[in-house]
Amino acid sequence: MFEKVLIANRGEIALRIHRACHELGIETVAVHSTADAEAMHVRLADEAVCIGPPPARDSYLNKVAILSAATITGADAIHPGYGFLSENADFAAMVEEHGFTFIGPTAEHIRMMGDKVIAKQTAKKLGIPCVPGSDGAVTDPDMAKKAAGEIGYPVLIKAAAGGGGKGMKVARSKSELLEALRVAKAEANANFGNDQVYLEKYLSHPRHIEIQVLADSHGNVVHLGERDCSLQRKHQKVLEESPSAALNADQRQQIGEIVRSAIQKLGYRNAGTVEFLYEDGKFYFIEMNTRLQVEHPVTELVTGLDLVREQIKIAAGGTLPFRQEHVRFHGHAIECRINAEDPETFRPSPGRISTYHAPGGLGVRVDSGLYGGYAVPPHYDSMVAKLIVHGASRNECLMRLRRALDEYVIGGIDTTLPLHRRLVREPDFIDGNYDIHWLERFVGLSR
Ligand code: ADP
Repeated sequence: MFEKVLIANRGEIALRIHRACHELGIETVAVHSTADAEAMHVRLADEAVCIGPPPARDSYLNKVAILSAATITGADAIHPGYGFLSENADFAAMVEEHGFTFIGPTAEHIRMMGDKVIAKQTAKKLGIPCVPGSDGAVTDPDMAKKAAGEIGYPVLIKAAAGGGGKGMKVARSKSELLEALRVAKAEANANFGNDQVYLEKYLSHPRHIEIQVLADSHGNVVHLGERDCSLQRKHQKVLEESPSAALNADQRQQIGEIVRSAIQKLGYRNAGTVEFLYEDGKFYFIEMNTRLQVEHPVTELVTGLDLVREQIKIAAGGTLPFRQEHVRFHGHAIECRINAEDPETFRPSPGRISTYHAPGGLGVRVDSGLYGGYAVPPHYDSMVAKLIVHGASRNECLMRLRRALDEYVIGGIDTTLPLHRRLVREPDFIDGNYDIHWLERFVGLSR
């Protein structure tokens, strides 16, 4: 087992990884920008190294600074968290070349799934059902017209290097296609430095359902059921739950087994998530994330497993201590992502926390680096806390979530807590009756 792990991230996920390490008796190294000197993960880590100024490109994305920090502190392994360098294949390769263990998949698998065109082709070959779409990238207008004609309108133009919901454009008819293609290519180039795009059938009322997997380096793979992440704003997840109200036990078992066996054939290792859109009883692959996800606690609460602990043990060469038939699902879990944003305009609201009181009690978990007096810096993602609640049934979970949201006090800045409080009282949400467009309508109507 490792003796010291460097955490190449910040915020709640850095704290989450620190906790898993300490429970395994592993020391931690926090790296941080000058803006994060007072952050909770920096305070709790055994050692801390400042790796640069506030902009992420100079600190949390600075590969050389992070590797230097690992060298001077004598770390054995690096956990990248999510975002930042977690899906950067070059970083994963550099980490290993410098003699550290990357707590995640191989650089080859990260690279393969990072190109969404290749990822889709791979998924298809492995027997995973995909969204109908262009066969690979579309390079010119004629090719786009031909592909869109075959797929049928509306079509969605997506960036091969896409992520974070950026660079997607809908074309509802032939007349919209060329302009949408031009804008999508320009956005893809501006955001990802790669203008390659591909086409997909635009699904009108799908749910976003994803399957969590864990794989060791000895060929053992388990799936840990699904998360329903359909409540999104601008293609960004806002609330996630497991199990999905849309699936029955047979459907869950079927899609889980398709994913499990595909991941085994792929020879993948560590944690990963295969994302699908689900419409009219059918699953359609959209992408695979080769890292820990923000919403992983939902799976932890229903399976009783610590995913970060398993990631660390797998990276250290361990064998998964259980098989698929040992995985049990208990009750229901929901996660609310709480952002430092105006709950109506969604404008970021960084600043100093005046009062802070987190909810507690049975079945309530808060993953957050917030504390009274802490100043939320303006330089990073606005998510500042995750409230995750478990109950024996979906109804119990909802009742508990309502009271936990009502208890939560974050003073001094605006947060999206009021949005979540409204959401959990909304009949459609209570009935589990929503698709990926539902939240945008809800937010639009309630303005
Ligand atoms: P990213 O990597 O940018 O997050 P994804 O491919 O995971 O992109 O898609 C993000 C979200 O965009 C999905 O959860 C869904 O809401 C929407 N989306 C993606 N593909 C389609 C599609 N073919 N039809 C309708 N919505 C889609």
